[in-house]
Amino acid sequence: MTVDPNTVRDLDPGTRLLMGPGPSNVSARVLQAMSAPCIGHLDPYFLSVMDETQGLLRFLFQTENPLTIPVSGTGSAGMETCFVNLVEPGDEVVVCIHGVFGTRMADIVQRIGGNLITVEGEWGRAIDPEAVRKAIKGRSPKLLAIVHAETSTGVCQGLEEIAGIAHEAGALFLVDMVTSLGGMEVTVDKTGIDAVYSGTQKCLSCPPGLAPISFNSSAMDILENRKSPVVSWYLDMSMVKSYWGTERKYHHTAPINMIYAFREALRIIAEEGLEARFARHKLNHKAFVAGIEAMGLTILVPQSERLPMLNTIRIPEGADDTKVRRALLKDFGIEIGGGLGALQGKIWRVGLMGHTSHRKNVVLFLAALETILKAEGVSIKGGALEAASEVYGES
Ligand SMILES: *Cc1c(COP(=O)(O)O)cnc(C)c1O
Repeated sequence: MTVDPNTVRDLDPGTRLLMGPGPSNVSARVLQAMSAPCIGHLDPYFLSVMDETQGLLRFLFQTENPLTIPVSGTGSAGMETCFVNLVEPGDEVVVCIHGVFGTRMADIVQRIGGNLITVEGEWGRAIDPEAVRKAIKGRSPKLLAIVHAETSTGVCQGLEEIAGIAHEAGALFLVDMVTSLGGMEVTVDKTGIDAVYSGTQKCLSCPPGLAPISFNSSAMDILENRKSPVVSWYLDMSMVKSYWGTERKYHHTAPINMIYAFREALRIIAEEGLEARFARHKLNHKAFVAGIEAMGLTILVPQSERLPMLNTIRIPEGADDTKVRRALLKDFGIEIGGGLGALQGKIWRVGLMGHTSHRKNVVLFLAALETILKAEGVSIKGGALEAASEVYGES
C-alpha cells in the first residue's frame, strides 16, 4: 500500500453553529487548552491536573463521592461502565425506556446477561413514577436505570420520586445525565443517585471523548462484593479507581490533552456559576420556544416536561425534513438534528447546549428557519423575532 500525501487536503473543516443534539460549540479557551504540550500521564504536573479535574467534577455533579472521574470514552462508554460494573449475569435490572437512550441501556443489560425488566413510556412524555412502582411491585431488582434528559425526544424526567421507589425496593438508582449535566440542576447526593454517567460534548461544551461518572458508597459496595470479575477489563472501575486515586496505579494512559480540555470546560462552568448557567439555559429556551410558537409551529413535549437545552419542533405540513436541514447547514452554517426511531421525519431537534445557548444563536436560528420555510412555500406566521425579543426584554 502506498499513499500520496499531496492528495490529502489540509484540514480545514470551517466553523459551524452547532445546534444539534451534540456536539455543541466549543469555546476557544477549551480548544487552546487542548493544544498545550502533551506530558507524561504520571508526571507530577499531570497528576495535579487530574486532582483538580476531579474536584471540579464533584462540584458540577454536586457530590462528595470519591469515585468521580472521567472515563476514557464517549457518553456511551459511561453508560456501559455503569452497567458492567454494577450488574452481573442473572441480576434483575429495571430500565425505564422513553426514547433512544433508554433502549440503548436495555441493550447493554441484555448483552451482559442481566435479567431485564422494562418500563416503557410514550416517546415525548416523561415516565409516570406510578408505572415504575407497578413494574417492580413484589420484585427486588439490583438496579433501576433512567435517562434524566432524553435527547431523542426533548423530555425532562423527574427523578426524586423514582429515586425513592428504587431505594424502597432495595435497588441502586442509576441515572443518565449525558445531556442534563451543565445545563440544568443536577444534584447527585441530594437526589439520592447511586451511580451516574455523562458526556463532554453536550452542555459542557467540550469535544466528545470523555464520560464523567460518579459512584456512591452503595454502588462501590456492590462493585467490591461482586461474585464474578467485571467483564470489561478497560472499564473495570475497581482497577481504574486506583489510577485516579492516591495509589496512581497504572491502568491505561489517560487521554492527556482531552483531560486538559475537560478541566478547562469545567473551570469555565465554575467561573460562570451553576445558578447563572442554568438560568441562561432556561432564558434562551424560553425565547426560542416563544419564537417557534409565534411562527405557528409546535413543540413535541408538553410545557411542564420540556428540557431547557434540547428543543423538539414538530415538522410543519409541507416542509421537507432533509431539505430544510440541508439549507440551514449550507446557507447559514447551522447544524440541527433530525428525529430518531419512530420520530424520524416528524421532528427537528434543536440544541441550545452550553456555549451554544446564547441570544445571538436563538435569533439567528429563528430568522434562518423563517427564511427557509418561506422560500419552501410553507405557510407560517411572522413575529418570531419580536416574540423572542419580548422574552429577553422581560428578563
Ligand atoms: C449523547 C447521549 C448518549 C451517548 O453519548 P455518546 O457520547 O454519543 O456516546 C447517551 N445518553 C444520552 C441521553 C445522550 O444524549
